Amino acid sequence: MEFAAFAERARAIEGESADGAVREAVTELLRAAGDELPVVTRYVQGRVFPAHDATKLDVGPSLCYEAIAKAAGRNVSAADVEARVAEVGDVGEVAAAYDFGSQRGLASFGDGGTDTLTVAAVDARLRELATAEGAGSQDRKRDLLFGLFTDASPDEARYLARLVLGEMRIGVGEGTVRDAIAAAFDAPVETVERAIQVTNDCGEVAVVARTDGEAGLADLGLVVGRPVGAMLARAGSVREALDAWGEAVVEWKFDGARVQVHYDGSEVSLFSRNMEDVTDPLPEVVEAVERAADVPAILDGEVVAVDDDGAPLPFQEVLRRFRRKHDVAAAREDVAVQFRAFDCLHADGDDLLDAPLVERHERLRSVLGDEAVVSTPDLSDGPDEIAAIESESLAAGHEGIMLKNPESAYTPGRRGKNWLKRKPDVETLDLVVTGAEWGEGRRANLLGTFLLAARAENAGGAGADANSPRFETIGKVATGITDEELEAVTDLLEPHVRSEDGTEVDIEPAVVFEVGYEEIQPSPTYSSGYALRFPRFLGVREDLDPTEADSIERVERLADRQ
Ligand code: AMP
Repeated sequence: MEFAAFAERARAIEGESADGAVREAVTELLRAAGDELPVVTRYVQGRVFPAHDATKLDVGPSLCYEAIAKAAGRNVSAADVEARVAEVGDVGEVAAAYDFGSQRGLASFGDGGTDTLTVAAVDARLRELATAEGAGSQDRKRDLLFGLFTDASPDEARYLARLVLGEMRIGVGEGTVRDAIAAAFDAPVETVERAIQVTNDCGEVAVVARTDGEAGLADLGLVVGRPVGAMLARAGSVREALDAWGEAVVEWKFDGARVQVHYDGSEVSLFSRNMEDVTDPLPEVVEAVERAADVPAILDGEVVAVDDDGAPLPFQEVLRRFRRKHDVAAAREDVAVQFRAFDCLHADGDDLLDAPLVERHERLRSVLGDEAVVSTPDLSDGPDEIAAIESESLAAGHEGIMLKNPESAYTPGRRGKNWLKRKPDVETLDLVVTGAEWGEGRRANLLGTFLLAARAENAGGAGADANSPRFETIGKVATGITDEELEAVTDLLEPHVRSEDGTEVDIEPAVVFEVGYEEIQPSPTYSSGYALRFPRFLGVREDLDPTEADSIERVERLADRQ
């Protein structure tokens, strides 16, 4: 594929605003990509190398501006380019505005001056650029970039400049590419998604989808030696975990750096969360795995720095070890590290991503033996037991705990609800609904965005009595409610509507919601003087009437305790 054709399509994609149209345009691009399908699949996301490959171009803005200035001709300096970028806010726009044709032929690159740039040629030159190292490498990189720009038309220059600086920004992320691969080569989206997770390489997935279809994608598996994305956690509470799963795997949360261990049966490789190879700086981890493991495996865990007594040190100490390229032995003398394994993605030929966490833990123990550090006991269903584990973790100098769904699969690179880093449980509030807004479109017949109020205790003044309490507003809740709940809540509230003004509805205090939140903040926005951060609907307290709703005094007490 010619790079001009890629640039033209990228331009068209950039001009689309609707998700469907973007997906459609990316689908067409992938279908038209020919032999360059893997590269095109990456470039359209602004990626020069596959996600599992930590190779970097190492081209900063100033080097790029110098190359653009040189290609633009004698009257243009890097400072001019920089000033234009500051003004326009887009290096692509600036690169596209210069006439690079005049410098053609001056390019020091061997095939400089060719009229048509292909995607393959751009790929080859960028790869060469990435390998330039040591003395003179910056000059070499600048010359290579200069060569590329002199061969580029304005549109090509626009996307070259953005690609090189990692600022593609045409609105195409991994999700769009996944959907486009599925549409272009007629494969189910879930199969493509899984293939992307195990290979960590959209380009490869696109090629397999095109040549071998769904069956080929389903055959793709983890490769020992090639890192996948680390499964990520959300903040959550013990109550949330137990409500959702009944019981939870509770693990200590170590304060260190994430490491993926790949052992192929003879050699160990270690990868950081951004796929960098960190084998050399961490010999203790390599030795520990070599000592314990006797089958090929891929393990996930945290590397922590420890003092002479094995107590954890601040995580900055781990980072120092990670970055250390020379004198590793001396660094090791200063600060020792330990590997705390908590997951097993592959063992002895079996991919375990879809196996439940408890089974992966078993495999982890069988791979690492005594070196395995996973939760004990495995499962907890009581808040007290979990609190005790948390205290132990904190007492041992760690960060707290992680709560994990015992039945959950390992989803590389995804942040789901199956791993929760514990946030202190906040007490919920029972608040009265005093207003709402009618929804829009599909939800025009439903009330949404509910105004909440707390009870003003001892509301003084003439005529105040316990039967007509005052309510002061404290926030609005719009999240946490399902469509069905919205219908039920609308039916419940409608008889109490006092007046309407446009979509805004004033409601007499009658219905009490139970509401969760992350924090209570002082705020002038609401009449109570407080506002809830991230309020979420938990349910209707049909058993409570407004006089039993929480008071502003309780809100104050909770706010003080935070
Ligand atoms: P945070 O960095 O606060 O988002 O917390 C998630 C990170 O905690 C993970 O990416 C790991 O690096 C780290 N971590 C420490 N202990 C564990 C554990 N037992 N399970 C999962 N992640 C852990």
